[in-house]
Amino acid sequence: MESLKEKSKRAEKIVEILKKLKGMPYLSVHKKDSPFRILIGTILSQRNRDIMTEKASKKLFSKFDNVEKMANASLKEIEKLIKQSGFYKTKAKYIKKTSRIILEKYNGKVPKDMDKLLELPGVGRKTANCVLVYAYRKDAIPVDTHVHRISNRLKLVNTKKPEETEKELLKIVPKKYWQVFNELLVNHGQTVCKPIKPECYNCKIVDYCKFKNKNL
Ligand code: SF4
Repeated sequence: MESLKEKSKRAEKIVEILKKLKGMPYLSVHKKDSPFRILIGTILSQRNRDIMTEKASKKLFSKFDNVEKMANASLKEIEKLIKQSGFYKTKAKYIKKTSRIILEKYNGKVPKDMDKLLELPGVGRKTANCVLVYAYRKDAIPVDTHVHRISNRLKLVNTKKPEETEKELLKIVPKKYWQVFNELLVNHGQTVCKPIKPECYNCKIVDYCKFKNKNL
């Protein structure tokens, strides 16, 4: 059986290969976004396709581009703007409540602390970790559906739930790679290691992958 140390080495190889594919600098797509936009955008992305998240975020922020406006917006208006996002009624409630709490309790600033983030409506570990990494450049691994699926296919982890995956990855992935891990795997999941029919014949990390049903 592969030891933790061996898995760690394999994870390192995988990250180094994916990093080269993507090119430097990392996290560039998020550079211009404020912590508030990253937080709300991540709530919108929950159980939603990437393309729909983008459309809904664009519409919502075109009308309410800061925490104050969002906190004072009517629920109906928010719902209308994010209708393309799945579960939009629930998300609209979360967005409004969360904006209000940030405005009133945190003086308009998104908290930088995991425990405080988790108290916000609609914020689970994935969303909180996204804020820590993409808004504040803190060392964390957000585990979304891509990271969960690919980490299991690679057999870096053997887990059922994203929370378990996060816990395991924190032991396996060297800390210097935590901040880039999500972005690299999301990119890999969208382009090559897709949920259905992964393109293993086109995969640059195939030599480090232990997935049984490779399409080669
Ligand atoms: S070899 Fe296939 S299953 Fe493994 S990471 Fe690449 S695309 Fe995904």
